[in-house]
Amino acid sequence: MARIVMKFGGTSMAGIERIRNVAALVQREVNAGNEVAVVVSAMAGETDRLVNFCREASSLYDPAEYDVVVASGEQVTSGLLAITLQAMGVNARSWLGWQLPIRTTDRHASARIETIDTDKLIAAMQSGQVAVIPGFQGMTEESRITTLGRGGSDTSAVAVAAAVKADRCDIYTDVDGVYTTDPRIVPRARKLQKVTYEEMLELASVGAKVLQTRSVGLAMKEGVRIQVLSSFDAPTDNELPGTLIVGDDEIEDNEMERQRITGIALDRNEAKITLTDVPDKPGGVASIFGPLADSNINVDVIVQNIAHETGSTDVTFTVPGAELARAIDTLEKSKDTIGYAELKHDTKICKVSIVGVGMRSHPGVAAAMFQALADRGINIQAIATSEIKVSVLIQEEYAELAVRVLHTTYGLDAPESVEA
Ligand code: ADP
Ligand code: ASP
Ligand code: MG
Repeated sequence: MARIVMKFGGTSMAGIERIRNVAALVQREVNAGNEVAVVVSAMAGETDRLVNFCREASSLYDPAEYDVVVASGEQVTSGLLAITLQAMGVNARSWLGWQLPIRTTDRHASARIETIDTDKLIAAMQSGQVAVIPGFQGMTEESRITTLGRGGSDTSAVAVAAAVKADRCDIYTDVDGVYTTDPRIVPRARKLQKVTYEEMLELASVGAKVLQTRSVGLAMKEGVRIQVLSSFDAPTDNELPGTLIVGDDEIEDNEMERQRITGIALDRNEAKITLTDVPDKPGGVASIFGPLADSNINVDVIVQNIAHETGSTDVTFTVPGAELARAIDTLEKSKDTIGYAELKHDTKICKVSIVGVGMRSHPGVAAAMFQALADRGINIQAIATSEIKVSVLIQEEYAELAVRVLHTTYGLDAPESVEA
């Protein structure tokens, strides 16, 4: 007997037929004698629909009320899955975020889980009842509903798995594992059997949507064993149908050495902002990013140009596209303190990143990326690097081309015969 957490994403929960399929997968684990908690997403497209309502109501919406609206999608699917399981004769009930409760910070729209009360949950699981938990939602100290940021159900699942000390956290989605890049962009992407927490963290943080970044960070910290697998493939007795996220020590050295690059990610959701003629003096940059941080806006790639002779400089950076309106509003309010001349913005950009621990031991990895993009006439607008990652900002129209070219450049394409 094992204690497991199963998480099902939006595509897996989209409609009653698919929920029945999910219920059958849950039943299989129950019949195998396991204690099961299930974390569910809203139906595919539902959260987008709810977000759009908020935007339509006001472009500068109150994030606390946004959370009330967008958390509702998961409430629906958790109830529907519990009903479906019951109809199949499986003992199940839903536990909403506020009922457990799952306590979070009060940073609405991107709250962090602080604690999960497990008494009721573990008691229910031990009594043989399946606990169905809506992902993505929690509650503040003041009993206000919060959400964990887009894709947050992955984090709910890992947090529940850590809290109940689950043996496994299985993330069921619409692809059968983590690939070298998004298989919808590159059909010749290869499925990875194992990825290290570190690489998965980096891949997720630069846009590989398959796992939310925070879920990977949390799994790494708490030692949660994550497996990513498909809810659409018929279950097999294969012990490793998907991709395992593992510690460094579980990957053979020679496996790591084999590839310079493990994966390539694309993020289309960034927007670029340039402030021109910012005074080039101590505190100049702080006066830009301080107010953005106070507004809870994450800034990613930052480029500060060489100062003009006039003693001023242009500063370019990216923010999540969804935060652009608020970022502009914040920067306009701080215009006098920052002292810039003009604010320009561009949403027709994307960020392409290469990730791999092998980068540490192979020089020339970044150079190969820049050359491959140059050969296709793709201009690089900004660059950001870490020890195991290189990201470039390019024009959005070249997004897919860039990913394909880089996938080939680093020898990641599956052999022709494997191509679907
Ligand atoms: P869910 O609704 O199950 O949470 P998501 O849409 O959030 O699913 O994530 C799964 C999607 O992630 C896939 O359909 C795929 O298009 C995308 N994806 C991006 N990068 C990768 C990758 N490296 N490996 C697998 N899937 C990826
Ligand atoms: N429904 C939420 C979203 O679409 C959370 C999730 O699916 O993980 O972002
Ligand atoms: Mg997701």
